Amino acid sequence: MDNFDILIIGSGGAGLTSALSAYKKGLKIGVVSKSYPNNSQSAMAQGGINASISESDSIEEHIKDTLKSAKGLGDRKVIELLCKEAPKVIEWLDSIGVPFSRIDSNIAQRQLGGTEQKRACYAEDYTGLKILQTLIDNVINRDIILLNNRFLLDLISKNSKIIGVKLLNIENLEIEVIKAKSVILATGGYSKIYGEYSTNSKDAVGSGINIALKAGCKISNMEFIQFHPTALKSSSILISESARGEGGVLINSDGARFVDELSTRDEVARAIYLQMQKNKSVFLDLRKLDKNFLMENLPQEIKLAKLYENIDVFTEPIPIKPSAHYSIGGIDVNLKCETNIDGLYAVGECSNAKVHGANRLGGNSLLEIIVFGLIAGESAKEYIKDKNFNNFEIRDYKNSDFIDELLKDNSDNNKNFYEEKHKLSKLLYEKVGLFRDEVNLKEALNYVENINLSEFSIKDKNRIFNTELVEFIEFKNMIEITKVVIKSAIERKESIGVHFRSDG
Ligand SMILES: Cc1cc2nc3c(=O)[nH]c(=O)nc-3n(C[C@H](O)[C@H](O)[C@H](O)COP(=O)(O)OP(=O)(O)OC[C@H]3O[C@@H](n4cnc5c(N)ncnc54)[C@H](O)[C@@H]3O)c2cc1C
Repeated sequence: MDNFDILIIGSGGAGLTSALSAYKKGLKIGVVSKSYPNNSQSAMAQGGINASISESDSIEEHIKDTLKSAKGLGDRKVIELLCKEAPKVIEWLDSIGVPFSRIDSNIAQRQLGGTEQKRACYAEDYTGLKILQTLIDNVINRDIILLNNRFLLDLISKNSKIIGVKLLNIENLEIEVIKAKSVILATGGYSKIYGEYSTNSKDAVGSGINIALKAGCKISNMEFIQFHPTALKSSSILISESARGEGGVLINSDGARFVDELSTRDEVARAIYLQMQKNKSVFLDLRKLDKNFLMENLPQEIKLAKLYENIDVFTEPIPIKPSAHYSIGGIDVNLKCETNIDGLYAVGECSNAKVHGANRLGGNSLLEIIVFGLIAGESAKEYIKDKNFNNFEIRDYKNSDFIDELLKDNSDNNKNFYEEKHKLSKLLYEKVGLFRDEVNLKEALNYVENINLSEFSIKDKNRIFNTELVEFIEFKNMIEITKVVIKSAIERKESIGVHFRSDG
């Protein structure tokens, strides 16, 4: 495998935007994808991307709402940058082909929680999918190299400077070592540590963050995990906040409303959880909304409710529960997306750019991945200008004892890690969820610290597309990330934003 000037790990919205921004004729740029770019979690985003582009709104209002939601833990400078760049970013996305919904000729906007403005630009309720697809189209029209079916195993650095990466080729389990002058991590978040109590895709267990941590990166604010109020009860599939933004209400099994539906997500999610603790079911009720309006603006939600819950939203309320949705913490970066390792950048949900502070506003994270994706690409391009490839022996990194061991026949270690993952997720939902206290957090930590990886094995010993092996490596990363999340939650004694201490 060749050397790359800039190698981007992760092919979601943050990774692909970075690639487009880093692109320059003559530079060798690669995007590593665990499967294929269109499988990235960014495709799941529904509700919209924030920008103050209407006459009734302003950049100042957007800054104010974001700061308010961040509850003092956001960085004002970063938030100002995010909100100022937002209108330009929408213009850019529009110019490269994102098919935003429109009213007359203007880009349509809807209201999400935590603001009084209709600020989220959308493409029906497929906003993430349409943005991602447009980014992919633009990437494949340039000579950017897509390295599909590769999983990042390790970052290679020397004297606190990035020099390359170690990848696992999932197609044949070969280890590929690539020299790179600069690396951008865009590996997404970690909310899927909550398993079936999460709206996220299965990749989102924080592998990239754990790998960065191992390499010496600073990570921060890992205790802040946002729960979305309205995930389908039996599958945790998200029903977008836009459904409430457009007038949907929340009712309990007595038919009573119990919360202002447009309060911030943490408040609504906690109110729902408390209803559930009183053995009441909770429903999202769209029955009063105009049928044509729903079909035009929320077509995906109608299909999801039918497909996964067998609910006709026009005649029945949708059973829901809060589920882990967005991880705020991550790899510490500055305004240029630089980490504390030279030449290594982080962007998107795997990073902590201090945009969201203690709570994230709906619509601000699609915005973050584009604004900071553009910045990360520019920063990396600037960085490599006077850099050469570092000399190191590829063969020194070509093996993995851990993988060799897993592929051996060893019937003594026969515990099923999928079952363990399931148990762990449930425990996290109950003890490290919407309400936290020291006793439960310590119990959870004790449980995770006693998971002994050597007791588990994988059944599939094949070298061709061995996804079980990759999922086991992710499980290993997930355990490390889970420990960090719980320790951070123990350390933060006060309730703030999405981190609610019932003993605080
Ligand atoms: C259901 C849902 C709805 C949402 N709706 C909205 C919305 O309406 N508005 C909004 O602002 N935000 C929304 N969000 C949040 C937003 O979509 C995400 O925060 C954002 O898309 C994250 O983008 P990303 O590029 O950082 O990561 P991702 O899109 O998660 O991409 C990460 C990539 O890294 C890859 N990867 C991970 N680990 C490795 C590894 N070790 N090796 C190789 N590759 C790896 C993954 O496979 C993936 O390709 C939503 C999220 C969900 C789950």
